[in-house]
Amino acid sequence: MSNEEKKEPKKSGRPKISYYWIYALIAVVLLGFNLINLDPRVKEVAPNEFYQMVKENDIEKIKVINEKYANIYIKSSLISTDSAAFKKKYEKVGKSPLFKSVNKGPHYQIEIGEVKVFNDNLATLQKDIPFEQRLAPEYETRTNWIGPLINIGLPLLILVGLMVFLMRRMGNAAGGPGGQIFNIGKSKATLFDQNTKVNVTFKDVAGLDEAKEEVMEVVDFLKNPSKYTNLGGKIPKGVLLVGSPGTGKTLLAKAVAGEAAVPFFSMSGSDFVEMFVGVGASRVRDLFKQAREKAPCIIFIDEIDAIGRARGKGNMSGGNDERENTLNQLLVEMDGFSTDKGVIIMAASNRPDVLDSALLRPGRFDRQIGIDKPDLAGREAIFKVHLRNIKISPKISAKTLAEQTPGFAGAEIANVCNEAALIAARRNKREVEMDDFQYALDRVIGGLEKKNKIIAPREKKTIAYHEAGHAICGWFLEHASPLVKVTIVPRGIGTLGYAQYLPKDEYITTTEQLLDRMCMTLGGRAAERIIFDKISTGAQSDLDQVTKMGYSMIAVFGMNEKVGNVSFYDMQNQNQFAKPYSDDTARLIDTEVRKLIDTQYDRAIALLKEKEDLLHKLANELLNTEVLLREDVERILGRRPADKILELKAKEEEQEDQPSTEDDSQDVANS
Ligand code: ADP
Ligand code: ZN
Repeated sequence: MSNEEKKEPKKSGRPKISYYWIYALIAVVLLGFNLINLDPRVKEVAPNEFYQMVKENDIEKIKVINEKYANIYIKSSLISTDSAAFKKKYEKVGKSPLFKSVNKGPHYQIEIGEVKVFNDNLATLQKDIPFEQRLAPEYETRTNWIGPLINIGLPLLILVGLMVFLMRRMGNAAGGPGGQIFNIGKSKATLFDQNTKVNVTFKDVAGLDEAKEEVMEVVDFLKNPSKYTNLGGKIPKGVLLVGSPGTGKTLLAKAVAGEAAVPFFSMSGSDFVEMFVGVGASRVRDLFKQAREKAPCIIFIDEIDAIGRARGKGNMSGGNDERENTLNQLLVEMDGFSTDKGVIIMAASNRPDVLDSALLRPGRFDRQIGIDKPDLAGREAIFKVHLRNIKISPKISAKTLAEQTPGFAGAEIANVCNEAALIAARRNKREVEMDDFQYALDRVIGGLEKKNKIIAPREKKTIAYHEAGHAICGWFLEHASPLVKVTIVPRGIGTLGYAQYLPKDEYITTTEQLLDRMCMTLGGRAAERIIFDKISTGAQSDLDQVTKMGYSMIAVFGMNEKVGNVSFYDMQNQNQFAKPYSDDTARLIDTEVRKLIDTQYDRAIALLKEKEDLLHKLANELLNTEVLLREDVERILGRRPADKILELKAKEEEQEDQPSTEDDSQDVANS
């Protein structure tokens, strides 16, 4: 999603009381009660003072509470300032602090140890006092309700507070005014309608011509539905856009809404799923209800695989039930309205293979539109769209840029353009120039350049030979992709340099191509081994790639004779607990992968040994200039043999075009 999709600022007139202050207040008060004495008026008295009181016969009454402490009541004649017997030392406790009236007591409090000892002490102290006047403690048992209240109530209060807090946050995310707990089942879709107009049109979507043509029909239908329904035709309810991330699926869906000038609901698949059970389903229901009110309109669900994954597979955790409910609700809703209502659902996914087949049945997402990464012409067109928005020097050509960005998706191209503009601005330029684009490209491919990352000369040498090893292998292997650029400028974390290749626009890869690619990927480590007779950790990501490639070739593409023509593709996304093959097969796969990688490694070593002088040359050149483009490499290594072969073949084909019976029969025999 792009940043246009900002939410409207909320305008809520009510002053917001912060509930957290209230909770805090309650907590403090409760805690306070627990810490200070039960009765704030009562003063703790030291034993000596107490004995003195007893000896002087000042005490009216002693109440022992819970056999723990004693409340002491002083005779009222002693504390009242009016009385003649008033004792100055009781002045402080004589008045109750709140009302300044006479304090009826208890006036003091004392901790008693053992009750029996306390009584004995009292008796000894009072031995001079006449028996009738002696004090006899009263006993009282009080249940302390504050303690349990705090023990149980406080955690409860905190829990409830936390719940309310969470729900409020979710409610707010739902975007309703004063979003509260009740909004949790509301859909979180962002709506673009007349007020928040979608101003994306097909003009902004470059390339993707076939896809545009397909969705054009949808636009036409939304504009004048009667044209289609009069003839009894049915318009697809759902259109599934399939393609890798950043290829412009969201953009295309928005363009459809923009062209048709209808409201556009946008939501991501993961927005449906929440930790509360049943929320997803009710959000789906709500979304469709809103959409029906606004029809004709488009609902766009990004990353539908978040809810649309095949049901009942890899069912290990309970969370799946919730997802299934959401999916079921979606299916129900899609069946529940007829197309002439004018609600069209577009969804995007980059993993159509994991989607539940029920979703793809007629009447649901019955139309699938594949959106591939753009080819050269497509990239040029996308560059043109994005270059419109920045001030560029007239020297810049979209074509050159497109040539340098093999494998880029639209989002990355947009990113490069933006990055280049920022870099030019930082360099205080009036317009964006080619070297800004170069810099931006490097940055997008390899991460940030580490200008001040200091690399020891010996390390730099290792990196240079490593990258040169890749480049040489790629150069001389017939089926490897042609090289675009080698650099040893360190970037980001982990990448110390890279060699960039131009993948061919092909849909099928042959065994030879994969083997050559593997050999080339191992070329870095092989070069290190030959030159330094040491290997480094720098090849970790290479090895990772090679391992993945090896397992794919054998267990997925069925490219190994011993393992045979089997494919265990499914197991890659499912849990490991249910391997679809036996332990023996697993062992076989492991050994075959190992063998495969070893063979390619040996091949890389042999090739590099043969071309060792070229390896030295290329590495030294890299150490000097740090970046080598294709032309530089060609200058050092000579023309690429594969290119020569291609030329030869092209010539042969030209000759074959002239009819010749002999050639024809040979062709048949060969095939
Ligand atoms: P997806 O939904 O496929 O992941 P988006 O539609 O969000 O990708 O694309 C992200 C951005 O990439 C878009 O906002 C746009 O700037 C750029 N982009 C992608 N494809 C194209 C294209 N074909 N033409 C122009 N811009 C594109
Ligand atoms: Zn490498």
